[in-house]
Amino acid sequence: MDGMMKKMILDDFHRPTFCNKCRGVLVYKGLGEYQCEDCGELAYDDYGKVRNYLDRHRGANVAEISEATGVTHKSIRDMIKDNRFEIINNAGGYIRCEMCGANINSGRLCSKCEMLYHRQMEEEARAKRKAAISGGSAGMHGDSGSKRFTWER
Ligand SMILES: [Zn+2]
Ligand SMILES: [Zn+2]
Repeated sequence: MDGMMKKMILDDFHRPTFCNKCRGVLVYKGLGEYQCEDCGELAYDDYGKVRNYLDRHRGANVAEISEATGVTHKSIRDMIKDNRFEIINNAGGYIRCEMCGANINSGRLCSKCEMLYHRQMEEEARAKRKAAISGGSAGMHGDSGSKRFTWER
């Protein structure tokens, strides 16, 4: 039940779970970036994509960001509203982590709770992967296409 609540908090960024190359578990590195624990391939959630783009194109507007990253206007606006980007100045007082109540400058979770959240998602992904290895395609359905889900070792 606890896990469900935490999932609701951050799933709107389309967190990548498995590596596109080798189906390994993606481990969160911070700032929307993930790395495959098996092959080292990098992946990004919506926040990571937008952040990367803004790093290279300071001052880009929402339409430009959306076109370049494929992230919807609404998601980008939500990120800005959550004060996720330091370069967008927001003098709206302090906010609190939704999980532990610590004071934070941006986003919805403090860095500690954010990492805990991701570690939990990674544990779930490993369990799912294990279930898929031992029980055929069990647990692997949805956007990745279970038919193509094969194991190479
Ligand atoms: Zn990989
Ligand atoms: Zn916290």
